[in-house]
Amino acid sequence: MSQEQMKIPQATAKRLPLYYRFLKNLHSSGKQRVSSKELSDAVKVDSATIRRDFSYFGALGKKGYGYNVEYLLSFFRKTLDQDETTKVVLIGVGNLGTAFLHYNFLKNNNTKIEMAFDADPKKAGTSIGEVPVYAMDDLEEKVKESNIEVAILTVPAGPAQGITDRLIDLKVKGILNFTPARLSVPEHMRIHHIDLAVELQSLIYFLKNYGTDDVETSQLEEI
Ligand code: ATP
Repeated sequence: MSQEQMKIPQATAKRLPLYYRFLKNLHSSGKQRVSSKELSDAVKVDSATIRRDFSYFGALGKKGYGYNVEYLLSFFRKTLDQDETTKVVLIGVGNLGTAFLHYNFLKNNNTKIEMAFDADPKKAGTSIGEVPVYAMDDLEEKVKESNIEVAILTVPAGPAQGITDRLIDLKVKGILNFTPARLSVPEHMRIHHIDLAVELQSLIYFLKNYGTDDVETSQLEEI
């Protein structure tokens, strides 16, 4: 990634795949320009945030014209490395893990769950949604030979750190952690925690306390 792209704030970077997916659909329906208002309605991010996000990557847009879809798409393609498929491993083929294996993310991005692992001997040796499930003893061998970059953890909290330590030794670059465990990883490794129970509770808290009021106000000029 170039120096220029490194300056994009993390919150903005997280929204890029959302923008990218919508713009691809727009492009395939033949649209050449889009306003921040249209984008905002589609991706449910307020238009001031969209304009600020887009300003980070040099898409300034024009009042009354909007943004050039082609320009935005080529930026996203470069930034998100969409030409390469990122190989993913999933560990823990329980209810949540199984759902991810069936879904397998291919519709949205060039990411693919290549293989899965589980400690349950009844699950090892099976396949789910065309993804092979292996025994935990085979983790090192299989991950090394497949050039896996990212791991999804859907095991219970207890074994999560031990498994993470094995992934660190295997030089996996990133972990999407669905367990409630707060995991320690070295600085060079990226970890995103998604605790679905906490997210649900927080949504309910906000609904109870703020309803559906918009919290962010538009300060930048409308495009
Ligand atoms: P299920 O109903 O299949 O048990 P679950 O999502 O309710 O699914 P969990 O207890 O959260 O069950 O476990 C998720 C998965 O993680 C299970 O398939 C389990 O076999 C697996 N698992 C548990 N411990 C480990 C471990 N140490 N290493 C790898 N996988 C594990």
